[in-house]
Amino acid sequence: MHSKVPVQPKDINAYRNIVGNEAVDELLELGRQLKGARVLHLNSTAFGGGVAELLYSMVPLMNSVGLETDWKVIEGDPDFFTITKLFHNALQGMELPWTAEMRKKYLEINVANAHQVDGLYDFVFVHDPQPAALIASLNGQKRGKWIWRCHIDTTMANPEPWDFLLPYINEYDGAIFTKDDYIKTPLRVPKVVFIPPSIDPLSPKNTIPERKQRHFIVESFNVDPRRPIILQVSRFDPWKDPLGVVDSYRIVKKFFPDAQLVFLASMASDDPEGWHYYEKLSDYANGDPDIHLLSNVQGVGSLEVSAFQAACSLVVQKSLREGFGLTVTEALWKGKPVVAGRTGGITLQIEDGVSGFLVDSIEECAQHIRCIFSNPAMARRMGEAGREHVRKNFLCTRQLADHLRLMLSL
Ligand code: UDP
Repeated sequence: MHSKVPVQPKDINAYRNIVGNEAVDELLELGRQLKGARVLHLNSTAFGGGVAELLYSMVPLMNSVGLETDWKVIEGDPDFFTITKLFHNALQGMELPWTAEMRKKYLEINVANAHQVDGLYDFVFVHDPQPAALIASLNGQKRGKWIWRCHIDTTMANPEPWDFLLPYINEYDGAIFTKDDYIKTPLRVPKVVFIPPSIDPLSPKNTIPERKQRHFIVESFNVDPRRPIILQVSRFDPWKDPLGVVDSYRIVKKFFPDAQLVFLASMASDDPEGWHYYEKLSDYANGDPDIHLLSNVQGVGSLEVSAFQAACSLVVQKSLREGFGLTVTEALWKGKPVVAGRTGGITLQIEDGVSGFLVDSIEECAQHIRCIFSNPAMARRMGEAGREHVRKNFLCTRQLADHLRLMLSL
């Protein structure tokens, strides 16, 4: 059997000060209607990337309103994760082969994992494509309601991998997408809903360290908190366009020679591309002492991410494709203006010109970074607007309510 991912308990009442009594009372009432329901979340990594980040909050929050929730991670070898990253990339629109050999390996590991799922759950949330097909190998042992949660932007999915995945998705009782245009072709799933992700305002990632502490943290990585900092927090991944960020920074640097560029990345265990892109980016940085490539390997954890997000001048998320982009939400919550790619879930989060800027090119990205550097008052106003937008729309209490309502409707 898969082992459970340990999570810290959470108390839903602790959120009353942030989201109000009404929202928390509603959650407790929804939880009462589902009391004792056994829930499983299944995904492909307990570390790195947005899904793991979400589950560390969603799992204990479900428990705190009366459900019995477990989180488990599927098992696979390096070849499987190489193939599933290609699958992910092809589903986000990259021209890649999806060969018979890849399909065979993908299905073999899904079958092996299906044998490890016990039938004790009333609801099973399966996250992303990596474990999506195991539902087909339960051999009549399927119990409870199964929900597929797609976190990626499949708007431009290549037909071959999408058509391969579709029959598996159609076996589910429910499906969750972040946006309606992510559905390429009609599904035969009885219930399809659109639920954007969220952040946990009480997690260490979103608790803002006080000024002295954040300066101390930033300085400990040889970054100067008194000089302008452009920050991108992302896995090293082609969709996050780190090379494009360097190009934008180089344009900005001509006007603001003091500017520093910091990348924070976590090396997710289900993402073998990380090291390859790290090397590519490192070569591209070409020894510039003001470009910093930092990751969990150097000790960047939640506290450090939060310190950099709070200490920087602005956050960039120059994605070319982005299912949602929790890093954007996190930055807006810290009152930072965000310059980000006009794509996917980012467009739900940033009101162009109000809480940041949406960009389509390296030049536009550089132009808006310069604009923010030159207008501190505007930057502050944008930060305030972004934080309010997150408070209203993208906190974990809203997402929990959406999930509970979905479960009640199945
Ligand atoms: N992250 C982190 N440390 C890092 C880089 C990223 O903890 O050095 C976190 C980041 O704060 C966010 C998540 O990884 O919570 C990335 O989620 P997002 O939705 O932005 O992108 P994904 O990796 O899922 O494509």
